Amino acid sequence: MKLATRAVRVGEEPNLKDGAYGDVVVPIHLATTYARNRVDIPTAGYEYSRSGNVTRHALEERLASLENARYALAFASGMAAETTLLLSLLEQGDHVVAFDDLYGGTRRLFNEILVNFGLQFTYVDAREPSNVERAINQRTKLIWLETPTNPMMKLCDIKAISEIAQNRNILTVVDNTFMSPFFQSPLELGADMVVHSTTKYLGGHSDVIGGAVMVSEDELFEKIKFNQNAIGAVPSPFDCFLVLRGCKTLAVRMEKHQQNALRIATFLQDHSSASEVFYPGLSNHPQFDLAKRQMRGFGGMLSFRLDGDNERVRTFLEGLKLFLLAESLGGVESLIEHPASMTHASIPKVERERLGITDNLLRVSVGIEDSEDLAEDLDQAFRIMQDGKKQKTEPEI
Ligand code: PLP
Repeated sequence: MKLATRAVRVGEEPNLKDGAYGDVVVPIHLATTYARNRVDIPTAGYEYSRSGNVTRHALEERLASLENARYALAFASGMAAETTLLLSLLEQGDHVVAFDDLYGGTRRLFNEILVNFGLQFTYVDAREPSNVERAINQRTKLIWLETPTNPMMKLCDIKAISEIAQNRNILTVVDNTFMSPFFQSPLELGADMVVHSTTKYLGGHSDVIGGAVMVSEDELFEKIKFNQNAIGAVPSPFDCFLVLRGCKTLAVRMEKHQQNALRIATFLQDHSSASEVFYPGLSNHPQFDLAKRQMRGFGGMLSFRLDGDNERVRTFLEGLKLFLLAESLGGVESLIEHPASMTHASIPKVERERLGITDNLLRVSVGIEDSEDLAEDLDQAFRIMQDGKKQKTEPEI
């Protein structure tokens, strides 16, 4: 079955056996514990809901299918998925090579939490696979990638880096949140594991926090599954239901996100108030060829530099009516945010600027509204910004 079909059906096949109800939608199984007839045999394999839950299993089946993985494990958040994965596979003294332009929360987890448990991290510009290769040392166990990165929309070559890793028995993990399984399949390109913040495109409606790990190798799956239960950062059955429901419209949403993002990227590129636009679907993106080779589309995320200082950035953002000034991404509504003071504030300013996250950089999650309404909203906020400048400069003239 094609992805759009699997996104609707896998994990929710109705039970049509005698005595079953044939629910078309998997019920939200709230029970925390399961009664049994015999001391040694759990009923239907379920014992306690942290270890296993029917609604969660339906979601895990679907998520595995979407990433072409044999297994998926659902978590209470993207960060819970990342933490559980890393604590399952690494031990004190182990070393990780990571792309230097990651989601700020991931870097915070690495630099402020996991280093305290003896793990070491080296950040490299993974756009060039040889930079990853050079950073590998004898204790390197894992390579952590995001592509496109957040917020600079830099890409890395998953296939080339996975090959470097495989030759040295190192595992490769790709955070596929930005592209979603609709546009990119890291496991098919050679990665060992995929992580997602299902809070984003998979949930799709800004109403649930969740995360997932997708993996095909039995041994890796068993280790992470053990810790899914042992650490216990599992999603609630209701949250699982919401992500399951979100997945059903993934294909139609992603098409529209992309269509709108391309329209907005082009609009910004032509606008005198935006000095640089970062979107992998623009032919002037420095890695446009890799984007076309590695992805099946370009997604709904873009960033741009606004031509102006902090004051103008603030006036522009506060002048928007349709775009919501908010963190997060991947929902049906268009969001805009200021990475330097919001999502990436935990990264020191010097490092932010080195990565290109300047104070005039804005990140946009383009929603599925009418693209002309979105362009018009940006245009009117640019005009407010220009007028603001005019008013301020008038006395000088
Ligand atoms: N990975 C990426 C690329 C993200 O953007 C985020 C959150 O913004 C996360 C991981 C963390 O996910 P969550 O907020 O669900 O914990």
